[in-house]
Amino acid sequence: MTTSRTVLVTGGNRGIGYAIAEEFLAQGHRVAVTARSGEGPAGSLTVRADVTDSESVDRAFAEIEAELGPVEVVVANAGITRDTLLMRMSDEDFEQVVDTNLGGAFRVVKRASKGMLKARFGRVVLISSVVGLYGSAGQVNYSASKAGLVGMARSLTRELGARGITANVVAPGFIETDMTDALPEAQQAEYKKNIPAGRFAVPSEVAKVVAWVASDDAAYISGAVIPVDGGLGMGH
Ligand code: NDP
Repeated sequence: MTTSRTVLVTGGNRGIGYAIAEEFLAQGHRVAVTARSGEGPAGSLTVRADVTDSESVDRAFAEIEAELGPVEVVVANAGITRDTLLMRMSDEDFEQVVDTNLGGAFRVVKRASKGMLKARFGRVVLISSVVGLYGSAGQVNYSASKAGLVGMARSLTRELGARGITANVVAPGFIETDMTDALPEAQQAEYKKNIPAGRFAVPSEVAKVVAWVASDDAAYISGAVIPVDGGLGMGH
């Protein structure tokens, strides 16, 4: 049995973030989620936050600290796509995606690190994607933001590793959520052909890996990229 922790999952109102929050709750942790709309799973504390806004992130942390204590495990999961080919990609498409996926992780982890340094304990889990290192036509913005998370986790590991803090990347492949439902069926079928497992995954398959890498058992794993992709990205 792992120690009970205070956990924060960004974007915990749906999809992978919701499943991650459910998994931590099932394992007996105190769980807060950030959401711009909707709610996290029953038993979690939902706080409003937009990860592109440092003040909003700060307010969310203050609320969580008051209710549940300092955040010991942070899962930077909130993310968006604005897919289009490079020639059609606007500066705004690029900036919004990088500011949410990479900038958002930076803001949340920076704020969480205060308490983690004091406690000399912390688990940082950044939700990247198989396309961060594999690449993907039509996702120059998204894959760059997700690759950036690898550099972030490895720099955090070097900077904070001696203080009992680990930072890892979980890189999902194709997971059935609103984000992937939005893709045309022909594109989904094309993706499936390339996945050695021959299927897409459900969010709980990512959630269990995230909970494990945040557990006491994973204390000596840091700066790693852990794929949950049915073999799609082999070679990270
Ligand atoms: P969804 O589109 O289902 O959910 C995205 C979540 O991010 C929502 O909770 C959303 O909140 C939140 N979010 C987006 N922008 C912001 C913001 N500015 N501030 C706060 N929250 C925000 O995505 P998934 O569950 O599919 O994906 C979750 C993570 O996993 C993402 O980082 C994604 O890139 C990654 N991923 C997903 C894969 C997949 O196949 N589904 C594959 C690989 C990686 P709101 O409801 O308010 O919009």
